[in-house]
Amino acid sequence: LNRKLAAFGTTIFAEMSALATATGAINLGQGFPDTDGPAEIAEAAARAIRDGRGNQYPPGPGVPELRTAIASHQQRFYGLAYDPDTEVLVTAGATEAIAASLLALLEPGDEVIALEPFYDSYAACIAMAGAVRVPLTLRAPDFRLDVDALRAAVTPRTRLLLLNTPHNPTGTVLTPAELAAVAELAVSRDLLVITDEVYEHLVFEGAHTPLASLPGMRERTVTISSAGKTFSFTGWKVGWVTGTPELVTAVRSAKQFLTYVSSGPFQYAIAEALALPDAYYDSFRADLAAKRDLLSDGLAAAGFEVFRPQGTYFVTTDITPLGERDGLAFCRALPERCGVVAIPNQVFYDDKAAGAAHVRWAFCKRTVVLQEAVERLGRLA
Ligand code: PMP
Ligand code: GLN
Repeated sequence: LNRKLAAFGTTIFAEMSALATATGAINLGQGFPDTDGPAEIAEAAARAIRDGRGNQYPPGPGVPELRTAIASHQQRFYGLAYDPDTEVLVTAGATEAIAASLLALLEPGDEVIALEPFYDSYAACIAMAGAVRVPLTLRAPDFRLDVDALRAAVTPRTRLLLLNTPHNPTGTVLTPAELAAVAELAVSRDLLVITDEVYEHLVFEGAHTPLASLPGMRERTVTISSAGKTFSFTGWKVGWVTGTPELVTAVRSAKQFLTYVSSGPFQYAIAEALALPDAYYDSFRADLAAKRDLLSDGLAAAGFEVFRPQGTYFVTTDITPLGERDGLAFCRALPERCGVVAIPNQVFYDDKAAGAAHVRWAFCKRTVVLQEAVERLGRLA
């Protein structure tokens, strides 16, 4: 393993899901739903396979039906106009979109400012690009963006900002004022922004504001999203990028040598999913809002300090009130202690101390599963 990757080891999601399988514990670690998305969308994928649509290499940018559906989605929810032919790129999940964007836009030695705690692939992909990550730490209990710290983090070597809202793992949703500060800085310092908005339809308070909708941002922003989260088909690996023709062409240049293309039949199914009526999106969000409350209340009753999320399907807690200090040790022992798996946030930090006692729980699970987990956790203290 080369020096760029050696530091990253095995992703925490693989480690903790393996632990859940080995122990039979309830898996509130890795963020995937335990119920598949709409049956009619699964049927659309099966139909595409049977009808021979997408069984051979689809076009490099993605099938036209899906690119059109992505552009329509951006228009419908945010009033953002993107040309499906030149400003939309389909990727192998948001994971590939992140990798291809960073590999395409960074030169070795460039600095990237990323919100810390960061989703683990950010650090690894910045390293693979030979660039340098500069963490901007969101601190408990509110995990707000520190605008002064952001301004201070910009140097002549800063090439881009890597944003994530709603934010995994803290559940923070950046406010319009925070987004405006980011936009102002990006424009004044001539920075590009990659914004990971995979949880765009999981905002429980207020509304999701795409960074690209702010003045001056459309021309410098690569927006990333994924069908895995919004339609509960994480295994299909259908993601996408929207941006200017120049930016999308750059990302595509990297993508063509990473996977070339992916997910043929699933692309047709996700094109149908994106066109589902508002009722689908509303009930998806309402269902997860109720589950957020169930798990957050249960964790609080079990003695954790709970940082109730404004978005995503994760809730972060502090384990200090339970007499614990090390989230990694806590998570490794938890399946044996009470049959539940969670994720230690410290793996998402350079500043380990800032997240040492934080543990993340996924609530994209059936209500009975969450109830059982809460009952087990209640026996911890
Ligand atoms: N970004 C964030 C913030 C995520 O939480 C995830 C999924 N865990 C991804 C990207 C990756 O998405 P996908 O499964 O579509 O590759
Ligand atoms: N995004 C999911 C999470 O944060 C996991 C995805 C993965 O395993 N790479 O839990």
